[in-house]
Amino acid sequence: MRAVLWQGTNHIGVETVPDPTLLLQSDVIVRVTSTAICGSDLHLLDGYIPSMEKGDILGHEFMGEIVEVGRDVSKVKVGDRVIMPFNLACGVCEPCQRGLFSACDNSNPNHRMAEALYGATSASGLFGYSHLFGGYAGGQAQFVRVPFADVSCFPIQSDLRDDQVLFLTDIFPTGYQAAENCGIQPGRDVVAVFGAGPVGQFAARSAQMLGAAHVIVIDRVPERLALAEAAGMQTINYEREDVLVALHEATGGRGPDHTIDAVGLEAHGHGPGALLDTAEQKLRLSFDRITALRWAILSCAKGGTVSMPGVYGGLVDKLPLGSAFGKGLTLKMGQTHTHRYVRPLLSRIEGGEIDPSFVITHRAPLSQAPDLYKTFRDKKDGCIKVVLDPWA
Ligand SMILES: [Zn+2]
Ligand SMILES: [Zn+2]
Repeated sequence: MRAVLWQGTNHIGVETVPDPTLLLQSDVIVRVTSTAICGSDLHLLDGYIPSMEKGDILGHEFMGEIVEVGRDVSKVKVGDRVIMPFNLACGVCEPCQRGLFSACDNSNPNHRMAEALYGATSASGLFGYSHLFGGYAGGQAQFVRVPFADVSCFPIQSDLRDDQVLFLTDIFPTGYQAAENCGIQPGRDVVAVFGAGPVGQFAARSAQMLGAAHVIVIDRVPERLALAEAAGMQTINYEREDVLVALHEATGGRGPDHTIDAVGLEAHGHGPGALLDTAEQKLRLSFDRITALRWAILSCAKGGTVSMPGVYGGLVDKLPLGSAFGKGLTLKMGQTHTHRYVRPLLSRIEGGEIDPSFVITHRAPLSQAPDLYKTFRDKKDGCIKVVLDPWA
């Protein structure tokens, strides 16, 4: 089959590799019909997430049709059209039983590696996202092995197009959980979203769906801001305005009640803090550039929530913890418990409340993945979200 492979830092290839086979009787094989490139894949491209190996198959946002099932699979069958959350969960361990699917105890065979880096924890396995997170082959390919199939596979029965349900694998639930974590008081609260990439767009729309009185989106890329404006949000271009001043003015001096950092570890930005972050990150002294998080904390109103769907991988420096403490802020973060959200958000799509395909700017055959990773990384050609067809 053809698959998108990580070949080294900033080097992506599309090559022919062996088809996947069932390894456990709880697995299924899925013929992938659509797959997307995620913002978090860019952290693999540029080598910020450790433990990638040459030849690893990328991709954690994909869907398709089941073509083979193991003997122990009982809830799905050959021919089912399914989507899979990007994180893997066993469904039976204590965290899974509590709905904390992204903290599954059993889906990451390399959990000791993760524990050495992150402490007494076991991050769940992820499709196509380094050996630290289990070394599972990803779905930017013609076929993929799906472990824990009874828990992982969500059948799609309606006649919605692939591009309307594909983002239930990650970015829609991720944006939604970020907004839900804010505990928005409907009709009252103002929510500011830092970063108008795909997750930021879904976080902003989810904040609207959850009743936010006003949503403000901050970025520097005009077409991303325009997409947010089209949905009725106020926008701030941080290259043209001082973000903290603009947010202060937009909220009568109170600050947004909740802020969402939908940028994560590679934030751009201004000021001495941002320059120092970049220098430290280049020297590998600190892993993460945290301009967006700093703004999210500094701008947030007293008693508010700072919600962090953006990915962080390591240590951070110059975190304004005193500001968070002084204002009594709540910080919420972490991988999305995607499995929780697939069905309720699918209902919202089926009910016509949202059509997630609004975010797509590029559609192409899988063979164009190497170029499109770069187009997406460099935010060229108006690129916001890329969907790939493995069979075109
Ligand atoms: Zn993703
Ligand atoms: Zn589990």
